[in-house]
Amino acid sequence: MKTKIILDEEQMPKKWYNIQADLRTPLDPVLHPKTQKPVTPDDLSVIFPMELIKQEVSQQRFIDIPEEVRDILRLWRPSPLYRAERLEKFLKTPAKIYFKWEGVSPPGSHKPNTSVPQAYYNMKEGITRIATETGAGQWGSALAFATSLFGLKCTVYMVRSSYAQKPYRKSMMQVWGAECIPSPSVKTQSGKAALEKDPDTTGSLGLAISEAVEDAATHNDTNYSLGSVLNHVCMHQTVIGIEAREQLAMVDEYPDVIIGCVGGGSNFAGISFPFAGDMITGKHPNVKLIAVEPSACPTLTKGLYAYDFGDVAGLAPILKMYTLGHDFIPPAIHAGGLRYHGDSPIVSKLVHERVMEAVAYHQSEVFEAAQTFARTEGIIVAPETAHAVKATIDEAIKCKKTGEAKVILFNNSGHGNFDMSAYDAFYQGKLVDYEYPADLIKESLAHLPKI
Ligand SMILES: *Cc1c(COP(=O)(O)O)cnc(C)c1O
Repeated sequence: MKTKIILDEEQMPKKWYNIQADLRTPLDPVLHPKTQKPVTPDDLSVIFPMELIKQEVSQQRFIDIPEEVRDILRLWRPSPLYRAERLEKFLKTPAKIYFKWEGVSPPGSHKPNTSVPQAYYNMKEGITRIATETGAGQWGSALAFATSLFGLKCTVYMVRSSYAQKPYRKSMMQVWGAECIPSPSVKTQSGKAALEKDPDTTGSLGLAISEAVEDAATHNDTNYSLGSVLNHVCMHQTVIGIEAREQLAMVDEYPDVIIGCVGGGSNFAGISFPFAGDMITGKHPNVKLIAVEPSACPTLTKGLYAYDFGDVAGLAPILKMYTLGHDFIPPAIHAGGLRYHGDSPIVSKLVHERVMEAVAYHQSEVFEAAQTFARTEGIIVAPETAHAVKATIDEAIKCKKTGEAKVILFNNSGHGNFDMSAYDAFYQGKLVDYEYPADLIKESLAHLPKI
């Protein structure tokens, strides 16, 4: 039995898989935040390069990955697929547990799979600076890495609670030449408005998005870049699932269960969409796809499937998705990358149509699972990833009860080497299991745009 299943460099995917080609019905249109009419490419061209706008709505099943992008992805791709045999033994489960290891990228997560092509297309279209937001700092560092390789400037608005919790993510961005600003900031109107309302706010991903979008929209040489949620971002991540399917085929396996944590949905999309495509088209109809989220920000399990703004200030386009309301500010859990009020429209649609399912966990049980994983498989995972680990362990324990030898595949989206303060809080018994903030969510859901 192999521990690591490795592909050669030449086997790295040459095309992304665009699941839009295989959806049973098309996605609902994206609406303009002011007019509430479907957005046009012209509207979007204020903040995005044309190639990404085309990819966002493309119905073409496969899209070529440019050679210049593959040259950089090759620094860490194809990523290894591991069999978690020690974890299986520890759990005494008949299940076979595999994980795709995305922590091997220079910034340490799956996010450079999209930051690299995004920086590339912006560079090709003459943009010289990219503005973005970051929650836990993973996306900011991934974009800082990518922009540095293409010679672009980068401005990152970092959610204030994470800026304080994770100073080393900020340092990484600096090494790669990016400017990192705590959000809300006084650099933008949206930031100033939020600070007036509550000078002590912890900030949120939705608010940081408002600041970055405003920055891009008010500067000609600057575009905006989003690290998750959008269709083109999810598509760039499909290299994960395409590789995993090939790696499993090398050991004559096909997964029964596929698991990923969900903030905006991109790493889960990356591992699951190629298999979801197999499912929808009838090639492998019986796969269970599980999205895992925090109980403190339970978008897919407790949110509404409705049109909502992508950001707090209502500057970003209106998307049909599961949402907790755009002005919902989630409790400051340590999995900062999962603190988003909305979700990918495609993941949302597939959950709504029951092609995928969703579960939610509290952070202390999630860190317990991460500890088990570190003590069996060695890797200290990111707090976000730990949600997927928890769901994987639960599925494996179910197999123990039923005696089924299911093949479970989860996406190990990144390492937690810069998240030691979160692990410290776990060991000091300081992790708070926030109850589902029902009242706050009810209030923010009352503010959805009336479409
Ligand atoms: C950002 C991040 C996530 C959550 O974002 P998605 O777009 O839902 O994937 C998960 N894991 C890690 C390690 C991250 O950095």
